[in-house]
Amino acid sequence: MSEHYQVLARKYRPHSFAELVGQTHTKKTLINLLDANNLHHGFLFTGTRGVGKTTIARIFAKSINCEQGISSTPCGKCPTCIEIDKGQSIDLIELDAASHTGVDNMRDILENVQYMPSKNRYKIYLIDEVHMLSKSSFNALLKTLEEPPEHAKFLLATTDSQKLPLTVLSRCLQFTLQQLTHDEILGQLKFIMDAEALSYEESALGQIADFGNGSMRDALSLLDQSISYGKGTVTNADIKAMLGLVHHDDIIKLATHLFNQDAKAVINFIKDLSHRSENLTNALKDLSSLFHKISIAQIVDIESNKTIQNLSTQISNFDLQIFYQMSINGSKDMALAPSEQIGFEMTLLRMLVFRSDAQLDAEEISNVVEPTTLDINNQQQWETLTQALEFKGGAQILVENTLFDNVSSTTLTLTLDNQFANLLSDHVQKSMLTTLRQKFSTLNLVINLGKPNAQTLAQKKTQVHNEKMKKIQEQFLNDRGVQKLERTFDTKININSIKEINHV
Ligand SMILES: [Zn+2]
Repeated sequence: MSEHYQVLARKYRPHSFAELVGQTHTKKTLINLLDANNLHHGFLFTGTRGVGKTTIARIFAKSINCEQGISSTPCGKCPTCIEIDKGQSIDLIELDAASHTGVDNMRDILENVQYMPSKNRYKIYLIDEVHMLSKSSFNALLKTLEEPPEHAKFLLATTDSQKLPLTVLSRCLQFTLQQLTHDEILGQLKFIMDAEALSYEESALGQIADFGNGSMRDALSLLDQSISYGKGTVTNADIKAMLGLVHHDDIIKLATHLFNQDAKAVINFIKDLSHRSENLTNALKDLSSLFHKISIAQIVDIESNKTIQNLSTQISNFDLQIFYQMSINGSKDMALAPSEQIGFEMTLLRMLVFRSDAQLDAEEISNVVEPTTLDINNQQQWETLTQALEFKGGAQILVENTLFDNVSSTTLTLTLDNQFANLLSDHVQKSMLTTLRQKFSTLNLVINLGKPNAQTLAQKKTQVHNEKMKKIQEQFLNDRGVQKLERTFDTKININSIKEINHV
């Protein structure tokens, strides 16, 4: 096994443009240039790590030095092609600026550019992380790029082209390499596993592709490790163990508690995850990814997974969109949070607070049976009705502060608490009546000022809100992480500041 996994990434390094995964645009342009024999002297490849910059540069080097002639399809068999593949070509000078900042060394090398190639058509300089060259090396490079000898080609690669002086940028043909997609990486992983006749769980390769996050090199390096770890087999359980990923089932359980509005279960579950030293940053990403899957299942209805289907019936797509946004923002803030656990908890609490508000409204509305004649006889029915009718602005505030008194065939009589007499303007009363008459076209309205003998809807809502906040504040202050924070800074968290949580 060991000889396998040590060399996989190198063994499957693409040797031709045909084997190269992704980078369609760059590939096409280079092939056109090569086949037209239209060769610039400087090429700059920009892109994040592991997307194929030096791989492309090496294929390009073979293309112009192959003994069969210049073309986009180097033979791969002549001594020069073989030497380049093995990293032994005397006329391909590979430099890593990240490790060669010593001025003299680099300058000497660049000054040798005037000498003819030893045996090939071109003397090729492949300079990786070129933005890290020292100032004097840069000057040497610039001088060379200004008046390049016919026999020299410069292939420059960088992860950060913004750090390159314009003078260099303007003398090179620039190619911006894209991060590889999940599918491009997954395809290559499968190809390698199949070629090696090794067994694997496809979803495990999917996790590796996710981990690669656009970088084939990172994904392949994890594939190497996991093959070694699993003694030739790649499974989900092994990947999870290696990366400290939270198991998919755990994420499902967490989402279920969240959708059930079970704050206690959510907090306990997070404590448990943290206790097991799970990686909560990854867990939050997995949660975002789950929201995405559920959302797709709701809208497109193609998800075959029963669990996802079940979850998709427990939450509205609107809430999911908000949750997704909250989880993404939570991930961004994770690095700033006092601890992973606090960052994770606060994100989940935010979702709970948001959902409980939304649910309060939804439940009340769903209880309504729409009457055609006004047929109510108690406060509860009045409240249910008011929630269904969608009063606007001042009218809504007025309505929620009234108590049902009685209703005759034509007139609804309500009582408004004396202290809210200022709500009773003509304009607001008219707006309230207009909304009522959309359903009960002949209805008249009488609002008496008085002393309320029961709780209004507004009072109930305030009470529910205060209780909810009290619970959240208690949970927050009882949190181990928060208590530790208080001890560490020898301070007390201002309880009133806790309700300042942004809902979105
Ligand atoms: Zn060749």
